[in-house]
Amino acid sequence: MSTPMVDVKAVHKSFGTLEVLRGIDLEVRAGEVTVVLGPSGSGKSTLLRTINHLEKVDSGWISVDGALVGYRSSGDKLYELREREVLKQRTQIGFVFQNFNLFPHLTVLENIAEAPLSALGRPRKETLDNARRLLDRVGLADKADAYPKQLSGGQQQRVAIARALALEPKLLLFDEPTSALDPELVGEVLDVIKDLALQGTTMIVVTHEIGFAREVADTVVFMDEGRIVEQGAPGDVLDAPRHERTKAFLSKVL
Ligand code: ADP
Ligand code: MG
Repeated sequence: MSTPMVDVKAVHKSFGTLEVLRGIDLEVRAGEVTVVLGPSGSGKSTLLRTINHLEKVDSGWISVDGALVGYRSSGDKLYELREREVLKQRTQIGFVFQNFNLFPHLTVLENIAEAPLSALGRPRKETLDNARRLLDRVGLADKADAYPKQLSGGQQQRVAIARALALEPKLLLFDEPTSALDPELVGEVLDVIKDLALQGTTMIVVTHEIGFAREVADTVVFMDEGRIVEQGAPGDVLDAPRHERTKAFLSKVL
């Protein structure tokens, strides 16, 4: 078996006395989609945030595409990466948030081009051309010069996805990408994510959209109280859950 794209090993994380991640092991293979389910407070967002080093783990380790996240090993010692190196590493991992987090004072096109221009120092013309291609890919070619507040929530989230793709990440993380949307706008965002999945993008998606999980996920992971309680193919976890807590959760969201 090849090295997983994402390898999470024995990760623990506490905030003060609250242990939020209690020994997480997770592997995601290149080109696969992992959907993470679980009740509020179970540690899903914290897990995503540790994967791109927005949070430091207390113990255990995480690697993405074979490289330790936040650390460099030399001999048998680990050295923490400097802020610059962490930022560079983070450009390889796209993150899409529940609340879009677009820059309100920048146009849609500028939002998408900002990081490649400023973080990677890419040439302007090429970056803007690429941003237009990405906008087209999420079905918003005609919105290049609009400002975020002129768009619907669904459109803003599609821009946020295009912005994440602009850095050509090895991995995309989604934290409840449709939870802030009106119900009639959920489908257009899920369709874009589904499209990325079909094109072989490696993704971890935290969502409560069970239909999406069933259709798109290679693996469904159920978290509760900082642990992965159950994981497997969607047909197994969603239709024949083995744990009481998974059953109880699914009976509420289905
Ligand atoms: P989920 O995404 O599954 O709802 P989170 O990972 O956001 O869960 O949160 C898990 C627990 O950790 C919650 O009890 C939350 O209040 C707590 N928590 C998350 N981030 C912080 C933080 N930065 N400081 C203190 N507590 C936090
Ligand atoms: Mg969360």
